[in-house]
Amino acid sequence: MPVILLTGGAGYIATHTAICLLEAGFEVLALDNFSNSQPQALERVGQICGRQVPLVKADIRDEAALERVFSEHQISAVVHFAGLKAVGESTEQPLAYYDNNVAGTVTLCRVMARHGVKQLVFSSSATVYGDARQMPIREDAPRSATNPYGQSKLMLEYILADLQASDPAWRIAVLRYFNPVGAHPSGLIGENPNGVPNNLMPFISQVAVGKRAQLAVFGDDYATADGTGVRDYIHVMDLASGHLKALQYLQQQPGLVAVNLGTGRGYSVLEMIKAFSDINQVAVPYQIVARRPGDIAECYADPSLALELFGWKAERGLEDMVRDAWRWQQQNPDGYCS
Ligand code: NAD
Ligand code: UDP
Repeated sequence: MPVILLTGGAGYIATHTAICLLEAGFEVLALDNFSNSQPQALERVGQICGRQVPLVKADIRDEAALERVFSEHQISAVVHFAGLKAVGESTEQPLAYYDNNVAGTVTLCRVMARHGVKQLVFSSSATVYGDARQMPIREDAPRSATNPYGQSKLMLEYILADLQASDPAWRIAVLRYFNPVGAHPSGLIGENPNGVPNNLMPFISQVAVGKRAQLAVFGDDYATADGTGVRDYIHVMDLASGHLKALQYLQQQPGLVAVNLGTGRGYSVLEMIKAFSDINQVAVPYQIVARRPGDIAECYADPSLALELFGWKAERGLEDMVRDAWRWQQQNPDGYCS
């Protein structure tokens, strides 16, 4: 039975995707160096699905380790999540980002090619659109980056396009995620940031559960309806099913596609706070502070290409996002150590 390799398999988006793939009848193998995750996350996936996910501890930059994995398993496709993702950290440690994200992906592709595995789904990001002029954002919008994290994703988009152009046997889906939030409805797996969360939703959850006193809202003077930043939040289970659809698409279609995974609907920071506290009946104290450097006013997808190519669209709304995020946070106040 062919196996789908999930790099970064113990991470937030990969664990949710593993559930979708297992439920659709795929065999999966997770590979992770646990730099930002714990093996317990995959044990929880096993609990949800009634079977354990095989796991290899390895780094995608370790070519010899990848060689062993591809020799020992009958891998048919790779969903490549592994990478570092903190924007602020990337400006402080650019080399770590270029090494993990860019060099790691080049190593992975080299080993894949050597083993004749040429189907790849790649985790890109809406960050490649920079400060987009036109909303909603279509895939053919100009791309740019303002920090080493975004730059690493942009470089990889070019590298993968060159690779596919050099050898049409490659089938590649570049998925540009908007803002993934929420958790599996079981509350058993979810987002588990190390230290102070950078992202809005985990910060709101930690304030609501009493781990942090209040949320800092970064600016209320943007050119948006209420002045706070607007983003396209997408439930992580919708994002997960987008990966399943992308894999199924690649089984039918050669070439490279770059596709937005978003809902097409933007919500402001204040709308997110209100939804979280109203639906979950919990207080989320906040204070307006200065803008965060590098932030943009608004960012939301035109998700129509995903519907056209993959037959995929987001099914879950804001209520599901905030309810599921809260269930995970309440059941696991200290993440997987709870
Ligand atoms: P995550 O940190 O939870 O998952 C990434 C996983 O990769 C972690 O388990 C980490 O330990 C592992 N990893 C990192 N470097 C590795 C290496 N060199 N070798 C092996 N494993 C390694 O992050 P996530 O939110 O699940 O993100 C998954 C992917 O999606 C990343 O590539 C990220 O850049 C991208 N992405 C995430 C978001 C988001 O908001 N979460 C948005 C857009 C794109
Ligand atoms: N944000 C905020 N306070 C926080 C974290 C985020 O006000 O503690 C705002 C941020 O300015 C942006 C939105 O929430 O308008 C989403 O930020 P996040 O970092 O989650 O995603 P990104 O900016 O990468 O889209």
